[in-house]
This record gives sequence, C-alpha cells and structure tokens, in this order.
Amino acid sequence: MASMGKRVYCHPEWDSKLIKTSDDDSDAVEIMMKRHSNKNRQIGGLSEAHKRLDEFKKLKYKNYMSSISKPMESREHCSRLSAYIAWGNLSVREIFQEIERSRDSRDYHFGRDQFLKRLQWQSHFIQKFEREMTIEKNNQNPFFDHIRTEENTDYYERWENGMTGIPLIDACMRCVKETGYLNFRMRAMVVSFLTHHLWQPWQRGAKYLAKCFLDYEPGIHYSQFQMQSCVTGTNTIRIYNPFKQSLEHDPNAIFIKQWVQELRVLPSHLCHDPSKISPMEQLFYNFEVGVDYPFPIVDVETSGRYARDQLWGTKRDPELQIHKKAILQRHGRKLR
Ligand SMILES: Cc1cc2nc3c(=O)[nH]c(=O)nc-3n(C[C@H](O)[C@H](O)[C@H](O)COP(=O)(O)OP(=O)(O)OC[C@H]3O[C@@H](n4cnc5c(N)ncnc54)[C@H](O)[C@@H]3O)c2cc1C
Repeated sequence: MASMGKRVYCHPEWDSKLIKTSDDDSDAVEIMMKRHSNKNRQIGGLSEAHKRLDEFKKLKYKNYMSSISKPMESREHCSRLSAYIAWGNLSVREIFQEIERSRDSRDYHFGRDQFLKRLQWQSHFIQKFEREMTIEKNNQNPFFDHIRTEENTDYYERWENGMTGIPLIDACMRCVKETGYLNFRMRAMVVSFLTHHLWQPWQRGAKYLAKCFLDYEPGIHYSQFQMQSCVTGTNTIRIYNPFKQSLEHDPNAIFIKQWVQELRVLPSHLCHDPSKISPMEQLFYNFEVGVDYPFPIVDVETSGRYARDQLWGTKRDPELQIHKKAILQRHGRKLR
C-alpha cells in the first residue's frame, strides 16, 4: 500500500494499528484517532487478526453465503478480515495459504470457494486502481460527467446522519458511523440510494464512507463506488429498492431496531416503512410520523424510475460505447 503514495501513521495506543490517509485526507486521521477506543469497533493488531482468522476457519464457512447479504448475520458469519488486510495485519497470501492448509483434499465447500474468490477480487481491484488512480475523483467513464452535476447539501447531510426516513438506510448509516463496518450488500445499497434515488454525485459520499470504514482500502472503495453508482458503463445497472432489501435481509427488523431506536416502540412489521402506518396505529403506539421519525426524503418508486430511465437511456449512446471499449482494453473484464 505504501507504493500508492499514502502517508502511513502508527497509532501509539492501539497495538500495531496504523493510521493511513491519502494526502488530502488528513482529517481522516483525526477522526480515526478519536474513534480508536470505541468498543463497538473491531480491535486492531496482529494477535486479534489471527484470532479472527482461526475463528472463521472453525466456523467452516457455515452460513457464510446465506449470511453475506444480511446486515446482522454477516457481522458474525463473514470473515471480518477486511480491516486486518487493509491495515497490513494479515496478507491475502497468508490467509489463502492458511485456508489451503486446513483443507481436506477431498472436501469441496461452496462457501470456501466463494470466500477465496473474494480474496482474489481484493487483489484484482487494487491492481486496477494502481493502473488508474484518477478514479478516486473522476468518473472512470467520462461519458457520465454530464449527469448528477448538482450537489444537495440537505440530502447529503440526512444521508450521512441516518435521517432519510428510510429505516434500513438510516440503520446502516448510523451503524457504520459507530462501528466502522457494513457488509457488502448494505454498502452497495447505501451508495445506490445516494446516487440513484437522491441523484447525487458519488464523490462526497465516497469520501465520507472512506472515513467511516475501518477497512478503508482505496483500491476496492473507489472501484465499488463507481460500479454501484453506474458511472463505468461496463457494469450492470443495479438500483436497490431499500424497502425490498429491508424485508428480505432484515425481516424482523432486528438490525433496524438496534440502530434506529426511535422505532423500537413499533412492532417489527411496521418498522420497514413507518410512513405507511395508519393514523389509528400512530395513536395506538404513541408514535407520530414526521415528528418521532421523518417521512421518506424522496419517493423511492418515482426516484428509482427516474434513475433507471436516465441510466438505461445512456446505454446505447455510441459515445458511451467508445469509452466502454477503452476501459475494457485497459482493465480487462471483471473476475467471476
Ligand atoms: C461501496 C463499497 C465500498 C467498499 N469499500 C471497501 C473498502 O474500502 N475496503 C474493503 O476491504 N472492502 C470494501 N468493499 C468490499 C466489501 O464490502 C468488504 O470487503 C467486505 O464487506 C468486508 O467484509 P469481510 O471481511 O467479512 O468480507 P468477506 O466476505 O469475508 O470476504 C473476504 C475478503 O475478501 C475481500 N472482499 C470481499 N468482498 C470484496 C469485494 N466486493 N471486492 C473486493 N474485495 C472483496 C475483502 O478483503 C474481505 O476481507 C466495499 C464495497 C462497496 C459496495
């Protein structure tokens, strides 16, 4: 990572935890130093990293794939090694060799295969970033420079502070601020919401989450931000409906209630979209929409449709195709 021109800081109070930042991110250092003692965060250091790797091996990838998209279960059943990799406590090669050593040559495990694939993605994305570091700031595909040009400060602030009125989005944003971690699907969903439903440029959101993520790794982070906000022109357009994600991945609203405590007075089935609660139910639960919890910042259906139309409308433009070809020539196709 040092080869990427970043300054590296060593925090004296936190084992071998390193504080790193790109040159214009010096405020990230301050924020991370302030938060290093937060007990909701993974503990840094070599011994903790090996302890987590041993625990993960013992789980035998049980529930790995079935939990990977769930905001609550993923915290236990995914490896949670990303922060240790990002800070250099463990190398990808070391993890790979450990996993191979513990493999019985006759057994096949889908979860293990998927895990090893993700380790491969880690290196793939970092290699891509080293070839094209401008993606930290610029759209990989300049064709998209003309869309989402206006920033809305109110939208950003409500997104950052978990006050959008969409419970799963708010739970994720409050959780990541406090713990420094979110699973892949929830990261993808909050970026999709910011850039598609709120139609905001991705750059400010990327900088904010870089400061929050304990596993911040520029190589993965900016590629993913660009993929999820659909400014590469080479990836599938994915617009997540946060209410649907909520019902699928947090059906009992356990994660939501943990982080959006003002919804705890409601039964779980009403927590996914409180704006739909009837006046009678509001009286019954002594809960007023718009007072105890905000109305949704945008209409998810309408804003999703707008984004879909805009993005699909660009797909066949010949200029986009020219840029797409150049990107694929530069980087090759995504690993499967
Ligand atoms: C918008 C966005 C930003 C992201 N930013 C980061 C980041 O800054 N740092 C980071 O490490 N990951 C990032 N990811 C990828 C992914 O979300 C995390 O690596 C993963 O959630 C970490 O949890 P884990 O260690 O339990 O992963 P596991 O599922 O156990 O995966 C094992 C390891 O594989 C690697 N990995 C997993 N998923 C991916 C992926 N999609 N692409 C590349 N490598 C992957 C990580 O090193 C991870 O530790 C981002 C994803 C999105 C959508």
